[in-house]
Amino acid sequence: MDFRFTDDQRAVADKVRAFVADEVTPHADRHDADGRFPPEFFSALSGAGLFALSVPAEYGGAGHDAVTVGVALEELARGEAAACHPVLNAALIGSIIAANGDDDQRAAWLPKIASGEAVVALCLTEPERGTDAARIGLAARPDGGGWRLEGTKTSIMIGGYATHGLVFARTGDDGARGITAFFTELPDSHVKRTVLDDLGHRAGRRATLEFDALPVGPENVVGGLGEGFVGVMRGFDYSRALMALEAIGSASAGVDAALEYARERTAFGAAIGTYQGVAFPLVEHVTKLRAARLLAYEALWRKDQGLDHRAEANMAKNWAPRVAVEALHQALLTFGHYGWSTDNPVTRRLRDGVGLEIADGTANATALVVARTLLGREAAP
Ligand SMILES: Cc1cc2nc3c(=O)[nH]c(=O)nc-3n(C[C@H](O)[C@H](O)[C@H](O)COP(=O)(O)OP(=O)(O)OC[C@H]3O[C@@H](n4cnc5c(N)ncnc54)[C@H](O)[C@@H]3O)c2cc1C
Repeated sequence: MDFRFTDDQRAVADKVRAFVADEVTPHADRHDADGRFPPEFFSALSGAGLFALSVPAEYGGAGHDAVTVGVALEELARGEAAACHPVLNAALIGSIIAANGDDDQRAAWLPKIASGEAVVALCLTEPERGTDAARIGLAARPDGGGWRLEGTKTSIMIGGYATHGLVFARTGDDGARGITAFFTELPDSHVKRTVLDDLGHRAGRRATLEFDALPVGPENVVGGLGEGFVGVMRGFDYSRALMALEAIGSASAGVDAALEYARERTAFGAAIGTYQGVAFPLVEHVTKLRAARLLAYEALWRKDQGLDHRAEANMAKNWAPRVAVEALHQALLTFGHYGWSTDNPVTRRLRDGVGLEIADGTANATALVVARTLLGREAAP
């Protein structure tokens, strides 16, 4: 057992921390208020190598292991949780294509994802189907040797910016084995976007995408026909552990700010941190954040070892956003009336934290997965 990160992992953490201090934290509240990242922010993420994290080196990426990607995302989230989404999408979709794509697909798409030329979105949720993802209905209608994608996806993070999407569509019968994953461009000529007005992650430009007969061919199919749900979606265990670290990074920065405030703010002639009623709740939340962090890194470490990490990743995603929201609530209260102003980044962090309780599967959805590993499918909810 060794709880230290490797030298390489520490070097990545240092590099991202410096980037966040210069390029993310100073702009995070502005991104949130504007509800968008300026184009130069994507260039900055690209320049910092953040789109390349998971992409294999032979395709222009950094080829980092999962733990290292987690380290980078945790640091990025300390500046701005919303900034994690384009990076997390690139890591998830890049690793899905690396694992499930053929040589031509890897050569065509991975360098573009690594450089940030392709800004990618994961297009699964539909207006009628979220948790019940095996029953999505966006149609892939046969057309010549290919298909036309027809229907609506919604709640697509980075949907307002994405040049490409991994789109889950129905090529077969009603069940899970009738779903195929297509990686495709999202041209305005066939995809209408409506950006949603959100409570948090506002710069992430979550959007509804209406597909109007978007042509796709066999070259767009990732992982084989009918493999979208049963094969390709297995990558979601990875993103769930990463999203847990997004929640933890953002919440830890919020709690650190509250601890700093507790050292400086005085009431009744002493720093408020000297009162147990202020200090002990913060201790409790720091403890829980630390425990949730270990769980998330264990999931990523297991992935890197080639071990089953499904239960750990889903436990982490189940727990971390809840722990983060509770910690940020306490952090906000620690600031008293200064915590109630939108000038205080803790308010943005709290709103973002709630979004992470829903994104990529709610606590019930992740608990279902864990219950099935603990009880067996027949005896679980
Ligand atoms: C910030 C954010 C980012 C997102 N990003 C993306 C993205 O990039 N791409 C994408 O495709 N989607 C994205 N989503 C959508 C997200 O994945 C879904 O919202 C989520 O999976 C839940 O689906 P739903 O909203 O349709 O809720 P529903 O499935 O309708 O569920 C509603 C409620 O019922 C509960 N519930 C449902 N079924 C069960 C059950 N069997 N047992 C117990 N409880 C149940 C749920 O937990 C939830 O509380 C994002 C959402 C948010 C908020």
